[in-house]
Amino acid sequence: MSRRKKIYEGKAKILYEGPEPGTIVQYFKDDATAFNAQKKDVIEGKGVLNNRLCEHFMLGLAAIGVPTHFIRRLNMREQLVREVEIIPLEVIVRNVAAGSLSQRLGIEEGTQLARPIVEFSYKNDALGDPLVAEEHIIAFNWASQQDLDDIIALALRVNDFMSGVMYGVGIRLIDFKIEIGRIYEGDFHRLVVADEISPDSCRLWDAKTNQKLDKDVFRRDLGSLTDAYSEVARRLGLMPESGKTHPGPKLVN
Ligand code: UDP
Repeated sequence: MSRRKKIYEGKAKILYEGPEPGTIVQYFKDDATAFNAQKKDVIEGKGVLNNRLCEHFMLGLAAIGVPTHFIRRLNMREQLVREVEIIPLEVIVRNVAAGSLSQRLGIEEGTQLARPIVEFSYKNDALGDPLVAEEHIIAFNWASQQDLDDIIALALRVNDFMSGVMYGVGIRLIDFKIEIGRIYEGDFHRLVVADEISPDSCRLWDAKTNQKLDKDVFRRDLGSLTDAYSEVARRLGLMPESGKTHPGPKLVN
């Protein structure tokens, strides 16, 4: 299809060299994986939905002054982003207990947390992305104390933004994962939200019914993943049929 150079292929995305230095094309695949890739499938249309949803969230973050790597969406499956140095951490923010937090600490899924919790996992598939403390991050030089403070502040801003966006369409943001990148400018660097924000990396529950509208649908075999992601996109006004309908001619008596 194209001759551009593949830089990296991950579980859900492929990165290609971008058209200009310092840019990257991020291609969203239809592949779904869970439990450290022990469960795999191809979910037709997932990549298109995630590309569109990710664009929506990244543009919204930029609009409120949260820096991201996003430049623009190129087509159905690709977006142009700034090349960054990814900090090898998964930054997880939780508002409600679920998933590994519930399992680790025996807290029932759905328990509202008194305040958002920010957790870090070391990005390493071979080790199963283990949970790490701030002390590990500093001691192993994955990030400085200053970086860490900035990462937590960024993560909490993303949490407020995403919680508000979801609240507006009747969805609760239970938790999410982001990755942070460094962009170097001379001797300094600044931190930006990188990778992706999509229902693959969030837990989203319908506010009334608690129906899951995220990757847990795939992880736990709860039905159609594209139906769930389409529902999120539809509520956010991102599906073609959910656009403003033209009122059409009015019958005048
Ligand atoms: N998450 C992710 N990628 C990972 C691990 C977690 O996107 O490799 C997201 C996950 O979708 C959820 C949040 O981070 O929204 C918290 O996940 P948790 O630690 O509960 O792990 P899980 O239950 O997914 O193993």
